[in-house]
Amino acid sequence: MAWDVTRTVQIRLDVPDDRKSDLHATNQQFQYCANRTAEWAWRYPHGDCVTSKSEAEQAIYDELREATDYLHANLVQKAIKRATKDIGNCVDRLSDGEKTSQPHYDTFSIVYDKRAATFYRDKVSLATVNGRVECEYDLPEHPEQTPHGEYLLNDDYSFSTSTVHYDNETDEFYLHAAMERTIDADSPEKAEDSKVLGVDCNVDDHIAVTSTGRFVGNADLLNHERREFEKRRGDLLQTGTRSAHLTFQRIGDRFGRWSEDYIHRCSKAIVAEAQRHDCTHIAFEDLGQIRERISDGKKFQQWAFGELQEQVENKAEMTGIVVSKVEPAYTSQQCSQCGCTLEENRNGQNFACLDCSYAVNADYNAAKNVARKLALQLQRGQKSPAGGAFCQYALKSGTLIVNATGVASDHYWSAERESTDKPIASAMGS
Ligand SMILES: [Zn+2]
Repeated sequence: MAWDVTRTVQIRLDVPDDRKSDLHATNQQFQYCANRTAEWAWRYPHGDCVTSKSEAEQAIYDELREATDYLHANLVQKAIKRATKDIGNCVDRLSDGEKTSQPHYDTFSIVYDKRAATFYRDKVSLATVNGRVECEYDLPEHPEQTPHGEYLLNDDYSFSTSTVHYDNETDEFYLHAAMERTIDADSPEKAEDSKVLGVDCNVDDHIAVTSTGRFVGNADLLNHERREFEKRRGDLLQTGTRSAHLTFQRIGDRFGRWSEDYIHRCSKAIVAEAQRHDCTHIAFEDLGQIRERISDGKKFQQWAFGELQEQVENKAEMTGIVVSKVEPAYTSQQCSQCGCTLEENRNGQNFACLDCSYAVNADYNAAKNVARKLALQLQRGQKSPAGGAFCQYALKSGTLIVNATGVASDHYWSAERESTDKPIASAMGS
C-alpha cells in the first residue's frame, strides 16, 4: 500500500539576460493556448461546457500548435489541460448555483512536466519558443532545514509537474517545483484515522462556512436585528418613564433569547454537517487570535462567535466529536488548492489565487485552510514508524487526505491529494 505526497518548493531561477524574452514569449503562447481553449470549451449558458481534456485536444490541438508557430507539444497539452480543468471547476460551481464565468489567463504561469523540462537538483532546462534555456537555481547557502534541503535536495523526492512564474516587481523568474514522494505504509489502518470539518466564522454575510461548502446562518440578519434592538432601546432610554424602563428590559430579554436561539440553530447545523461527513473533529480558528479581525466596539460579534463555538462544543461532545482551535494566520490569504499565500488573493468575498487561478468563495477557501491546519496538527501528533499515519478533512468534492511530517508554512506547500471518490481506499492506493 502506498500513496503519494507532494511538496512545492519555490526556487528563484537564474535566467540568462538574453533568454528572458524567450520565456516571456513562451508564456504568451502558453496563455494564448489556455485562453483559446477556454473560449472554445466554454458553452454556458447556451450549451454544455467541454471539460474533457482529450475532447478539447482532438478539436483544437492542431489549430493551437499552428497558431503558436509550433510551441512545444507538451506545453500546448498542458495549456489545454489547465483550461479544461478550470472549466470543470466552473461547471461544479454552476451546478451548486454559484456564479462564475469563462476562465481567463493573464498572469505569468507556465506548466512544465518532464517532457518539456529536464529537472536537476541544481538547475532546470526549460523548453521555450526558441529552444531550451538552462537556468541555475538560487539556493540558500545552508539549505539544511529549509524546504530546499528537505525536499529539493532530498533523493527520496522526485520532480513532478511544476510551474514557472515571473515576478513583475523584481523581474525574477521562479520555479515552483513539485517534489513527489511515494510513502509506503504496511498498515495504515492501524494509524488513528481522523477526519476534520473546518469552520470559518464571519462578521458579515454567512456566520459560518464549512470546508464541505455548507453556508450557515446570516450574519447580516443578526447584525440588523441587533441594530434595530439598539435603536429601540435608545428611544426608550430617552423616554425615561417607568413603563419605558419595563419595556426596555422586556425587549432586552426578547432579543437575548432570539439571538441565542439563532446561534443555537447555527451550531446545530455545523454539528449535523460534521456527523453527515463522519468527522471526528471540528476545527475553528482560535477566537483569542481573531479578535483583531473584529473591529473595536463589536462586542456583540465577539459574543456571537464565542457563543457559537461554545454551543458547537457542547453539542459535539454529546456526539463524540472533538472541537479544536487552530491559529488563524493566513487562513484567508492562502490558496487552499496550491498553498500560494498572498494578500492580493483575497478581495472581499472573492478568493482568486494569483498562482493557480483557483477561484472560489473566500470564506469557503478559508474553511478548507482551517480544516487542513488541524489535520496537519493531528498528523504531527501521531507516531508511526512506517509513516502510515494519515488524517483527512472533509470537503465538498470528497475528502482530502493529508499526509505530512512538516508544517504548511507561508510559501511551501505540504502534502496532500484530493480524491473525489472513496477517500480511504484511494489513500491506501487500492
Ligand atoms: Zn492557488
